[in-house]
Amino acid sequence: MSRYVPPPPAPASALRALEGKLGATLPPVLEGRYAASNGGTFGDPRNRDCEWQLHPVFDATDRKQMKRTGEDIAHYTKLALKDARFPRNGISIAHDYTLARQLLVLRDEATGAVGDAVFLFDVFQNLWCAPYAIDLQAAIDQARIPEAVQPDPARALPEFPYYADPFRSGVMHTSGETCECCGQATGYIYGGSFYAVGDESHFCPWCIADGSAAAKFDGEFNDSAGVGMGEVDLPASVVAEVSQRTPSFFSFQQEQWWAHCNDAGRFLGEIEHVDRALLASDAGTDLVETVCETAGLGGDTDWQWLLDTPSRKRDIAVFVFGCVHCGKLGGYVDHS
Ligand SMILES: [Zn+2]
Ligand SMILES: [Zn+2]
Repeated sequence: MSRYVPPPPAPASALRALEGKLGATLPPVLEGRYAASNGGTFGDPRNRDCEWQLHPVFDATDRKQMKRTGEDIAHYTKLALKDARFPRNGISIAHDYTLARQLLVLRDEATGAVGDAVFLFDVFQNLWCAPYAIDLQAAIDQARIPEAVQPDPARALPEFPYYADPFRSGVMHTSGETCECCGQATGYIYGGSFYAVGDESHFCPWCIADGSAAAKFDGEFNDSAGVGMGEVDLPASVVAEVSQRTPSFFSFQQEQWWAHCNDAGRFLGEIEHVDRALLASDAGTDLVETVCETAGLGGDTDWQWLLDTPSRKRDIAVFVFGCVHCGKLGGYVDHS
């Protein structure tokens, strides 16, 4: 058996050229992987017969590399988009030798920034954009997680009525870790805050959603005093749902929860992840005004800067919520 030799690194110029072609900025993890090796294969722990083939980045260094990398990410993305079920803002990064199963990342239409999260497109399972791994490195690493602790694709993730997508915000991710509440490795783990006397905080989504983690360890995921932002008194059942059965989000200061129509809002994420048309609509007018005022943003340029700069590169974060009744947007500015 011949020893597996990983492909050589992709030069920085090749990565820049790809970004130009896609009109996208690659996230550091993806870029790091290609800077180490331009392509290669890794296993799919959910399907031991499958092997992911990472598409290369076109490398014009010499003839040999040109030939090897001709069918690159841009090529496969173009092919993938011919299938109407493939997400329109998806970028195909790997396939298992057929186009029926692919891994993809998502490009933010407005900023061109590509998110770290890796998604699964699987025609056989009717999955068009299912969470697969928090980033490419995790996708490669999870192939080494024992089969028994892989997420069960048949078990639907619980819904959080006040939280749009805990995977997108990053507080939930795929992992082989054992839940500190139920003791099971479900394939997903929570990594956000949990206020309790003990140290336990790594729970599976189910133990959060059904309240068992909060009950067992007598804690809160979100500070109950901050639900309603100190401005409105909400029904106790709403405060309990948000504080005890809803994931938190990463913030500089202790999180607060916006409320409207006598109910808690649904957490939509940081402002750069919120649909821009929605922000620009009537529903967003008050939010935009409040944010500009609190953050001291002068005009359109400042506003654009806020939308185009990833939050890790600025000292303010803006958290956006949507009213579950009237659709109005609200939220607040968080300072480091
Ligand atoms: Zn659990
Ligand atoms: Zn409302």
